[in-house]
Amino acid sequence: MSEPHPARMGHIAGFSTSPSAPPIYQTTAFDIPDLDVLAEIYAGSTVGHIYTRDSNPNHSALAESIAMLERAEAGAVFSSGMGAIAAVAMTLAGCGDHVIVGQSLYGVTLKLMSRLQQQFAVDVTYVDACVPNSVAAAVRDNTKFCLIETVSNPLLEVADVAAIATALGSVPLVVDSTFTTPELVRPLEQGAAIVVHSASKYLNGHGDVMLGVAAGSAAHMKAVRATSSVLGQNANPFECWLTQRGLRTLPLRVRQVCETTAGLAEYLSTHPQVSKVYHPSLIAHGTHATAARLYASGANGEIRTGGIVSFVLNGGGKAAVTKFMQLLATIPFSPTLADSRTTISHPATTSHGFMTKQERTALGIVDEMIRLSVGLESFEQLRDELDAVLTQLDQ
Ligand SMILES: *Cc1c(COP(=O)(O)O)cnc(C)c1O
Repeated sequence: MSEPHPARMGHIAGFSTSPSAPPIYQTTAFDIPDLDVLAEIYAGSTVGHIYTRDSNPNHSALAESIAMLERAEAGAVFSSGMGAIAAVAMTLAGCGDHVIVGQSLYGVTLKLMSRLQQQFAVDVTYVDACVPNSVAAAVRDNTKFCLIETVSNPLLEVADVAAIATALGSVPLVVDSTFTTPELVRPLEQGAAIVVHSASKYLNGHGDVMLGVAAGSAAHMKAVRATSSVLGQNANPFECWLTQRGLRTLPLRVRQVCETTAGLAEYLSTHPQVSKVYHPSLIAHGTHATAARLYASGANGEIRTGGIVSFVLNGGGKAAVTKFMQLLATIPFSPTLADSRTTISHPATTSHGFMTKQERTALGIVDEMIRLSVGLESFEQLRDELDAVLTQLDQ
């Protein structure tokens, strides 16, 4: 009997059979036959991988899928949505450059911009992404990119990507499409240069992954991947695999979530315990017309406007929100969104907790505001649960 050889234990030398689902390449590096093959892989003339911080088959498979969904030349994957945004920002702009960003971006994206400004001397101008003229007015000779989100949080204001791309001229537009997914809008088709997503949200869709993706031209993606390699923002192969699996049901999930959310928005807007509802499916919403023009429509011609809806309880401050949360039977308070289960969040203390109460109130983000991220439960089940809680709030 030969001695056990720890270095060879569990080794599978190539696959002799074809797995019907993609394998997970959970490996740090790849064995290379010789220096000639290494040189070919470096040159790109042979498809291959060397070190997982730079590339891995699970990265490539997911990056190609994202590129297909966004109708892009190429894609890239990162350790998180913030990893994607940081890699893109630090590829396109550096010391002495100027960038334009939407003033109501995801809080951590705004923190990143203020760090770029303070630590790396990038000049940042904040604009209202719903006013293309203000974007046009902010452009300078040294503007390297403009970053906006397709929809703002928690007021769900829809940005007119095409009008902003036009207003920017040759300045690259980077669009965070996390809330919308390629099922609702494809920013590259409307003139954006790069689209980014937190795949931790809808693309994976099951609340069990941290991952980011980007898509755009091959040249942009190559440069962004090079940045992410030196910053160590590589994605985990298993999380790429999970997200790849999640993508299989993306169209089904988004269709159902949009339908349920539009129904709940309508239901909430007629409820006496609710003073205001924010969702682009509602005709009263400020950017309903923009959504109707830009977003994909469903089988019956209804526009699909996403699975996040915010609403305001009829007074009572934070105490009313706490009571609301305690009365809910199945919907948890969870500071994320786009899980397969419905979750609620409280913008005034989470995403917008860094602002003063006056700043928040000026935006309409009052203490009584609740944000619902609608999951895959049936409309009836969710309406009945909300109805029961709103009725009890009254007592
Ligand atoms: C969650 C989120 C991010 C950050 O993504 P992570 O995967 O959490 O790093 C960026 N933008 C938007 C709009 C998000 O919702």
